[in-house]
Amino acid sequence: MKVTKFGGSSLASASQLEKVFNIVQADPERRFVVVSAPGKRDAADTKVTDALIQYYKRYIKGDDVTASQDWIIDRYQAMVDELGFTAKSMKKIAQSIKDLATLPIENNDFLYDSFLAAGEDNNAKLIAEYFTYRGLPARYVHPKKAGIIVSSEPGNARILPSSYDKIEELREADEVLVIPGFFGVTIDNQICTFSRGGSDITGSIVAAGVKADLYENFTDVDGIFAAHPGIIKNPHSIKELTYREMRELAYAGFSVLHDEALLPAYRGRIPLVIKNTNNPDHPGTQIVLEHSSETLPVVGIAADDDFVSINMSKYLMNREVGFGRKVLQILEDLNIRFEHMPTGIDDLSIVLRERELTPIKEEEILRQLKTKLEVDKAEIEHGLSIIMIVGENMKSHVGVTATATAALSQQNVNLAMISQGASEVSVMFVVKTEEKEKALKALYQAFFAE
Ligand code: ASP
Repeated sequence: MKVTKFGGSSLASASQLEKVFNIVQADPERRFVVVSAPGKRDAADTKVTDALIQYYKRYIKGDDVTASQDWIIDRYQAMVDELGFTAKSMKKIAQSIKDLATLPIENNDFLYDSFLAAGEDNNAKLIAEYFTYRGLPARYVHPKKAGIIVSSEPGNARILPSSYDKIEELREADEVLVIPGFFGVTIDNQICTFSRGGSDITGSIVAAGVKADLYENFTDVDGIFAAHPGIIKNPHSIKELTYREMRELAYAGFSVLHDEALLPAYRGRIPLVIKNTNNPDHPGTQIVLEHSSETLPVVGIAADDDFVSINMSKYLMNREVGFGRKVLQILEDLNIRFEHMPTGIDDLSIVLRERELTPIKEEEILRQLKTKLEVDKAEIEHGLSIIMIVGENMKSHVGVTATATAALSQQNVNLAMISQGASEVSVMFVVKTEEKEKALKALYQAFFAE
């Protein structure tokens, strides 16, 4: 059996819902359907989740919320009208949207989450009714009933490991089960959402819980591209990726799937496939535990901006016991996360994301490096990007980094840093952001030209 998750763009309009219905109906193994809230119909449209945020903001300010309520209710109503059926659930949907504005504002840590969750919750009700109307018996299941019990962390829920046994009971159902994504309930019965984009996480949890044979994640692209289509013209989509490769690519900016969605499926050893609702015959990208064959050494190239490097040097640094610890202590005291730490004999750099720093923190770091660690030189370099070439099979291929550096030097790209982790799943290059596009194009050409 399969768990099939549809993202917001797959559920944005009647014609999209029609495609979704055809996909689910085409395969009797598609027994569990996890849905997002309706997404944008076009670039200028508003996602229902974002409309719910506006509604929430007006409500807590004490403003008139009628326009917000009407907009959201109309959004569902328009889909029903276009689909040409009379949805009994429409009345309940309208009521539940209005009821949000009766929830207590004071001492209610879960108010925001309750507003946000309404997008997926009502969509699931509507979709279950629509499937049934079309002759495919389906039932809406609230996450509480499904057993999706989460930690009490508003906007950042985690599944409780004890949930999985209850979720497994869903296997017994005869109908297709339609489960809203993005939220669970706490032990105290509060609605609590995952972080934004979290319907992917629900899908993964349900797949692990029911021990599915496959977790299908339907979106609006033919799987995961080998490089960013905004930079590389028509990149190919990757046939097969391992979980580890996906994690590395996601880290450096590939955002097709929510970061946290990999873990439940990975732990449950459930293969995952990313597919396109608008092109369901395309095989998409499979995410597997291990490659089925010796693939190319590099499967994808990712790049991400807004990195900063704190560079320091001190003569005989390599002989000084505790130097690294003291540097990291400075960062820890300032509550700064770091990402990479390439070292030389007398040099050390710390690469971190721009958002971790403020001008005051920067000054403080430099001051402490000079006074406490007595470095000879310390500076903070902004405007950096990372580029990662990713592939598990790199470890059995010689010369991958050589190919990459040759391609980069031919294009005159100056490498600020290179780092390869012990896992050999990726090699990371740090370049100046203005050289990123040139670098990415050179690497794509070098590894995937034919
Ligand atoms: N609707 C939620 C969001 O926009 C969750 C999701 O779509 O996955 O973040």
